[in-house]
Amino acid sequence: MTVGLSKSFMPPAGSVVAGALANAAPPVTGVAVRETLQRQFVFIEDGRLQDAPTVRQLLRHLEPVRTREPSQRIMARFSEDAALYALPVLDDEGKPVALVDRKHFMEFFSKPFSQELFRRRSVRDLIEHKEFGGAAPIVVDEGCSIEDVAQIILASGMHHMLTGFLVCSAGRYEGMANGHDLLNMITQRKQAELYYMAHYDHLTGIPNRILLADRIEQACREAERNGDMLAVLFIDVDRFKHINDSLGHSAGDEVLRKVVERITASARRSDTVARLAGDEFVILMENVSDPSLVELVATRLVKAMRAPIEVAGHSVVATVSIGSAIYPHDETRVAALITKADAAMYEAKARGRNGYRRYTTATTVYNPAIISLEAELRKAIEQEALELHYQPLVHLADGSVFGVEALARWQHPQRGRISPAQFIQIAEESGLIIPLGEWALRHALRRLKTWNEAGVPPLRMSINISALQLQRRGFPDFLGAQMRECGVDPRYIELELTETALMHDIDEVMATLNKIKALGVSLAIDDFGTGFSSLSYLRRFPVDRLKIDQSFVRGIESAPVNESIARAIVALAKSLSLDIIAEGIETPLECAVLQRIGCREGQGYLFGRPMAEPDLLAYLGAGRAPDPEKAAG
Ligand code: C2E
Ligand code: CA
Ligand code: CA
Repeated sequence: MTVGLSKSFMPPAGSVVAGALANAAPPVTGVAVRETLQRQFVFIEDGRLQDAPTVRQLLRHLEPVRTREPSQRIMARFSEDAALYALPVLDDEGKPVALVDRKHFMEFFSKPFSQELFRRRSVRDLIEHKEFGGAAPIVVDEGCSIEDVAQIILASGMHHMLTGFLVCSAGRYEGMANGHDLLNMITQRKQAELYYMAHYDHLTGIPNRILLADRIEQACREAERNGDMLAVLFIDVDRFKHINDSLGHSAGDEVLRKVVERITASARRSDTVARLAGDEFVILMENVSDPSLVELVATRLVKAMRAPIEVAGHSVVATVSIGSAIYPHDETRVAALITKADAAMYEAKARGRNGYRRYTTATTVYNPAIISLEAELRKAIEQEALELHYQPLVHLADGSVFGVEALARWQHPQRGRISPAQFIQIAEESGLIIPLGEWALRHALRRLKTWNEAGVPPLRMSINISALQLQRRGFPDFLGAQMRECGVDPRYIELELTETALMHDIDEVMATLNKIKALGVSLAIDDFGTGFSSLSYLRRFPVDRLKIDQSFVRGIESAPVNESIARAIVALAKSLSLDIIAEGIETPLECAVLQRIGCREGQGYLFGRPMAEPDLLAYLGAGRAPDPEKAAG
């Protein structure tokens, strides 16, 4: 079984088949996308990571040229198809002998003598001509693992990242694959790993609350389609804190694992058992034909928990209280479904624990914080109660600061500081990201201006732009107007966009990007490597920089896969003439590896955390060189 994918894991339709030879494959949409995804994400099966895939999965057939054809044939193929990166050349026996890459070919043919001389000459003459001197092709067997090929490509230089490599089976040409697809495949594996870590509970190995939320949402949609019911059972271990405190944490962990065993045994095989937090668990029951089924499972579990658990030489009784809510009978909104089951569980506790209650209209529901948070965020934006903090962007070689990234902060009067991960998501889902983003842009430009006026050395200001903002028709005009108003030099402004934002409505995005570029600001792709981009677009988008995501930077010195990905991204950037920056650098070791693989710019706690304006100015004033001891705290 393939594990369900979270929404954030879904590339936009059409971008799955990516890369130089994308046009060799039919466009992918709808059902095909889902199938492709399932093939790509089969890396997680039954909750475990699977073995390395092979080059076969990257193979695209591309009609080769033969050594005896005229060189003009190559010219024709390249001019017919702007997305074609390279062409394989085969001899008469069908053995690959060369790879002619577009850039090289065009450069050679733009020389005065070449066109005249080589148009009618054979491809063999061309590749044998010493001035042509293209790189030797990399030829690999289709059974080769993608990790091995990645090493070969990286060892042979960045050039091959773009042109790709030839794939053979038993010495015969089968097709081509390109470095970008390879990179995507490796990063997807890495993502599968991250996905696993982000969606499963480490202690017990069962789904965590994120995956549960996803499953419930899917299940609700399914139930709506089929006119079915589903149930959520909220389970809380009675007096767990007491057990944990008196027996110690490791015994407490053991108790939780045993509790999970009993929950799983009481549920049906098809039910999802997940850990919400600490000692809270949920059973998601789909296809509930009759509510008495829910009662059956709940009472079975209550009974099972009454038997003592043997742990660390002790006999512990860990009873549970359970509450349930049924979709669509009790509630139709996903989040509120859990809340109602939770409220019913509280009733079970109030009635003396060790029992089960189902939600009824008489159950008191404690209003969840989330709903009001959106309203409060709206108010905070209107009243300009948000703040921007600035994180230094530095030259890795000496830690000198050349810019800052503006990051929004929200200090809630009652709840204290709310993390951007939380409020940015709320803003994205509610559309509030538009006014928030406009505020951030305006505010950042104003700061840049006052700093200039105060004599602060010029800094690049990096501003995050969300997909929704970019899709707004008037965005480039808004940006232009703000820049004119603040009178800032556009060369010091950079917008950070995510891959996913770019892969929507390609033509529109392209037009918007061109308008933005025309204003003179630069563009970076944020979190690079975590989204899905297509090489042919990447080449055509007027972007200046790729920002290596922090998940690849984390522990790069001891995680070979992270280093391979970072190296591949650097190589890709070089071959596309793009700059590179790495984010989330926390340790001197991470910094050293990044420098070794050719990354010169970066940001991260090692150099400085995001800080309020006065702190930033003090930091700049102190002309601080990186002091790993202090900065890493
Ligand atoms: P991001 O654009 O990827 O920003 C980088 C995040 O990494 C920031 O998180 C930053 O504080 C954090 N970070 C930087 N260095 C390190 C490090 O060495 N270690 C670790 N562990 N983290 C580091 P933050 O400030 O929590 O922001 C989270 C996300 O919220 C940002 O991710 C960005 O996507 C979004 N965001 C923040 N402000 C804005 C905004 O004004 N507009 C939009 N559209 N999004 C924003
Ligand atoms: Ca960013
Ligand atoms: Ca990032």
